[in-house]
Amino acid sequence: MAEDAVRRYGLFVDNTVVQPADGAYLDVVNPATGVVWAQIPNASIADVDRAVTSARRAFDSGEWPAMRAADRAMLLIRVGELVEEHAEELAELQVDENGKLIREMLGQTKLLREYFNYYAALAQMPTGTTNPLHVRDMVNYTVREPLGVVAAITPWNSPLLLLAWKLGPALAAGNTVVAKPSEVTPVSLIRFAELAAEAGLPAGVFNVVTGLGDPTGTALTGHPGVDKIAFTGSTATGRAIAAQAGHTLKRVSLELGGKSPNIVFSDADLDSAVNGLVAGIFGASGQTCMAGSRILVQEDVYDKVVEQLAQRAESIKVGDPRDPGSEMGTVACRPQFDKVRHYVEVATADGARLVAGGEPAVVDGFPDGLFMRPTVFADVGNEMRIAREEVFGPIAAVIPFRDEAEAIEIANDTEFGLAAGVWTGEVQRAHRVAARLRAGTVWINNYRKTSYATPFGGYKQSGLARENGPDALREYTEEKSVWVDTGQGVKDPFNPRA
Ligand code: NAD
Repeated sequence: MAEDAVRRYGLFVDNTVVQPADGAYLDVVNPATGVVWAQIPNASIADVDRAVTSARRAFDSGEWPAMRAADRAMLLIRVGELVEEHAEELAELQVDENGKLIREMLGQTKLLREYFNYYAALAQMPTGTTNPLHVRDMVNYTVREPLGVVAAITPWNSPLLLLAWKLGPALAAGNTVVAKPSEVTPVSLIRFAELAAEAGLPAGVFNVVTGLGDPTGTALTGHPGVDKIAFTGSTATGRAIAAQAGHTLKRVSLELGGKSPNIVFSDADLDSAVNGLVAGIFGASGQTCMAGSRILVQEDVYDKVVEQLAQRAESIKVGDPRDPGSEMGTVACRPQFDKVRHYVEVATADGARLVAGGEPAVVDGFPDGLFMRPTVFADVGNEMRIAREEVFGPIAAVIPFRDEAEAIEIANDTEFGLAAGVWTGEVQRAHRVAARLRAGTVWINNYRKTSYATPFGGYKQSGLARENGPDALREYTEEKSVWVDTGQGVKDPFNPRA
């Protein structure tokens, strides 16, 4: 690509594109071609302050928090319409950023309209209560009020979807937002912000700052003008953010990593189960927080499942993410690619048996692409690093188990608790095992489904709080209790008979 084809983007503050104060930019690389196609600001403390000040002003003295819920809802609906109208453009931007398949990115982007419609509806639902009291002549009611300025920090795997999980409820509740996308996938969010402004969001309600975790992310999470941090990313970064937020007691919600067990019992429909295992770990090249990266298989079907899984892995068509015929795209960026390859060495050194993949994939016409072959390790012990640490790539670790009790024990023996899958033909076992798994989401005879209509989040070190579902707005509000005296006024407290 010629030098002049590199597009330079700015920050989006107060509904305007602004350039960074110190003129520092980062390259955005297409992971399929290796070509630098955009540049984005590496926002400094001063740039972040400018964005937070804009969001603060829009909250403290702007029309947004006081606007009728019905009017806010109409604007959210309009944002969704514009996203749908520009779905192809937004999907292609995301593919050029993270190398995921066009069909997955397009599907996700088109669904965003429903997300915004859902939160538009929630914005108009009653949120308060009227409470029976133990004292006479008093009425008490509660109201839920917006928190203020929300910092939304997102990773690279599903840039716009994971933004919508935060933005929908935050805006519906009347907050203002400063978003910081991953430095790997910033452009799609900047373009989204332009559309949101075009939809009619008032200036300052939604701002975007781009840049690295340090300085941009830390400037945002440490800023005294931010009331809440809504973060999706790695567990390590989540811990750092929670610790920093503790200094000013900012509200925090964290959606973090996982090492989710996908458990196959011998009484399962094995064809369906193997499809679910493939979707669980090779969908999105394994770059989903909910990836079914630990595959637990009952002993009596173990060899058969390992063989089928290895065959399926070898037959997946790794290719150009923009080609609708491809079944797996790239790993999103060079450090992540190196990490995935490193874990192949780690698993091999620890004694796991490689039965598929294990190397980069060669794709015609893409000599510099970050393509990895779908990889399966069998005979993994749950104590091995490949079973304990999140790879965030297309590597399955298959672990045998004897019976239900052992499956549950292995599944729960992890610091994570984001998701789990249970494959069985026995309805009692399905519910019994689901009840025992320490995970925020359990799929029975399916895997990797999410919706705006049901909560998503982690147990243990996979996160704090929940996103999506009917209670999502609670995470973006404070509850106020209001007391009203309906009696004869207050008597002298020291001389009540007077
Ligand atoms: P990451 O933690 O490296 O980065 C996430 C975001 O945080 C980026 O925008 C990054 O710039 C920013 N950041 C980094 N350090 C920061 C700091 N000290 N302060 C403030 N911001 C900082 O994660 P990633 O590599 O972009 O994404 C992969 C991770 O995200 C995986 O662990 C995955 O499991 C997790 N994830 C979780 C979910 C979920 O819903 N639970 C969904 C998708 C991804």
